[in-house]
Amino acid sequence: MDRDSVEELVALEDVQRVVLGSCLPLGPIEIGLSDALGFVLAEDVHASGDLPPFANTAMDGYALRADDTRTAPVELSVIGVLPAGTAPTQAVEPGTAVQIMTGAPIPPGADGIAIVERTEPGSSDGKIRVLDQVSPGAYVRSAGSDLRRGDLAVAAGTVIGPAHVGLLASVDATRVTVHARPRVGVLSTGDELVGGTVPLELGQIRDSNRQGLLAALQRDGFVGVDLGVRRDDEAAISAGIREGVERCDALLTSGGVSMGEFDFVKVALETLVTELGGRAHQFKVAIKPAKPLSFAVVAAPGGRLVPVFGLPGNPVSSMVSYQVVALPVLRKLAGHRSPLPRRIPAVAADDFERHPDGKLHLVRVVAAMGADGRLIVRSAGEQGSHQLAALAAANALALVPNGTGVSTGSEVQILLTGPLE
Ligand code: AMP
Ligand code: MG
Repeated sequence: MDRDSVEELVALEDVQRVVLGSCLPLGPIEIGLSDALGFVLAEDVHASGDLPPFANTAMDGYALRADDTRTAPVELSVIGVLPAGTAPTQAVEPGTAVQIMTGAPIPPGADGIAIVERTEPGSSDGKIRVLDQVSPGAYVRSAGSDLRRGDLAVAAGTVIGPAHVGLLASVDATRVTVHARPRVGVLSTGDELVGGTVPLELGQIRDSNRQGLLAALQRDGFVGVDLGVRRDDEAAISAGIREGVERCDALLTSGGVSMGEFDFVKVALETLVTELGGRAHQFKVAIKPAKPLSFAVVAAPGGRLVPVFGLPGNPVSSMVSYQVVALPVLRKLAGHRSPLPRRIPAVAADDFERHPDGKLHLVRVVAAMGADGRLIVRSAGEQGSHQLAALAAANALALVPNGTGVSTGSEVQILLTGPLE
């Protein structure tokens, strides 16, 4: 056991419940369809008319009366040509056909299409020879065969992808009502942090968390707001958090939440909620890495409730904490209906040994498709909370439960954090 008593630790699921329970999706906004990719639809969209709006041909060929082809091969007189985009002006009478291109409306009188590949020139000019019998309705896409007028086209809660954009365009939804995309501030804390390329003095390190978290926000479809670095000074950190709460829908800080003498984020958050209203929590999450977590919902000007995550400073911890605690909340703000990361079963291809310590271990692993079609996972490298290299090499976190570990060949649940190769 480490120095935490197991009782002080709070299970990850309980922490997720608390943080998710204290925020609501951002209010709906109306945006142009061309900007809608990745947003979550806030209202159902129904088909404004039948889709397709008129019966049309699925193939290039000849529109005809199916009945005329019962004795195929037959010859029909071609009475016109109908390209896509042109309305028919003539009806197809018995013994006649109209040459027709994919997407053109079915002319009156016709009820089937002979595809061009199954026709030949007729015995004289203006005639076509249809080789096979055409059944009624052949290659006819009837009006409303995709969606009928009034049908649900895209449901509220849908994450708008390219196909949704296409569908919304075809039902004339040129503007859509979506949940606003959260603006998320990112603030680093620590006297040791130095940005840019200034040579490092002994004791100084690069500020990697801010860059990494801003990149994660970008990947996950949020708007990152870079709030810079604050010194380990209570007033400076308080001012930074206050600025974030005023400017953003949510805030991520990193560092300053553990047991050190200069860990001021906790204090700053407690003070801020006393002043502005809201609620602060200090968690020891029963996970490794990323045990310490300060969380507050701060009552911001205008009645907004802004979630603030005081993520731990260690680079791996801040990213893991983002992934399992902050990201679900940001997804909820953005309107996602299932904001928690999905657990997927995989098979351990390494031994993941550990000792009981009351915590769920989130092991950086490389997940790949095994020969039998199941996912297999191997360690991505050194597992220290400062060792970003293994985090960078990983595309998943393996959830190794409290106990003595998971041995090769056993099932283990994983959370995907990157693409499967
Ligand atoms: P703290 O939680 O502030 O005690 O920080 C824990 C560890 O994380 C220390 O080794 C810090 O130097 C490191 N750390 C804190 N913030 C950052 C950051 N923004 N980028 C890289 N390392 C950090
Ligand atoms: Mg620090």
